Amino acid sequence: MVLDSHMHVGDFPYFGVSIDRDGLVATMREHGVATGMVFHPDHQLVRDIIGRTPGLYGLVWVNPRMPDAVTTLVDLLDEPGSRFRGVKLHPLLDGYHPDDPMVHPVMEVLRERRLPVLIHCGHPIFSLPWSIEELIRRFPDVSVILGHMGHGNIVYINASIDVAARNPRVYLETSGMPMHSKIREAVERVGPDRVLFGSDAPFHHLSVELAKVRVSGLPDPVTDAVLGENGQRLFFGAMTPDVVG
Ligand SMILES: [Zn+2]
Repeated sequence: MVLDSHMHVGDFPYFGVSIDRDGLVATMREHGVATGMVFHPDHQLVRDIIGRTPGLYGLVWVNPRMPDAVTTLVDLLDEPGSRFRGVKLHPLLDGYHPDDPMVHPVMEVLRERRLPVLIHCGHPIFSLPWSIEELIRRFPDVSVILGHMGHGNIVYINASIDVAARNPRVYLETSGMPMHSKIREAVERVGPDRVLFGSDAPFHHLSVELAKVRVSGLPDPVTDAVLGENGQRLFFGAMTPDVVG
């Protein structure tokens, strides 16, 4: 099974892209993606979509600058039948240092619930791997996913792999990172179970993102782990997620 650990829903005029619930389901079916993790700053939009769509689960987009960020997060994670399986942080868009003290209560919520956080990684000034590592070292028992594993800049890509190599609870997520060779290198440096497939749909095309993993030169069982099993274990533990119909 393929699990996409990084999907968006909504309109993004700055980027010229847009996708709604039906569009997400259609592209997942077309490309053989069974389960997707979706997020948007509008929690109710995501809650509604994941609540009525088998195969879609959510990460709570937390902006720690909001005074009700932690109470809202706890409500969304703890509500009966919740389909939220962790947190998305975007320090660049929301404007804070990853290790700002206002982020720490969010990490404590995740530590208590053994849920991961996906952090946008690859742009100055607020989402560089070294800054995120300050937070990682403060919360070594929380699983942190470096979203885009450094994105388009080779210096940040190499640094993201270094951060994961130094910190055993760090995962590298492949979306938007252009170099297939760095996916194989990531597996060789950090092991086969800490590299995760993500597409960043609709910003990047699922066919391109899947091909990047498949041509990266990994043995087939490791390709399967990157494309699905690693994300399934990280977000769902022993539970089996449902799949898109
Ligand atoms: Zn994204």
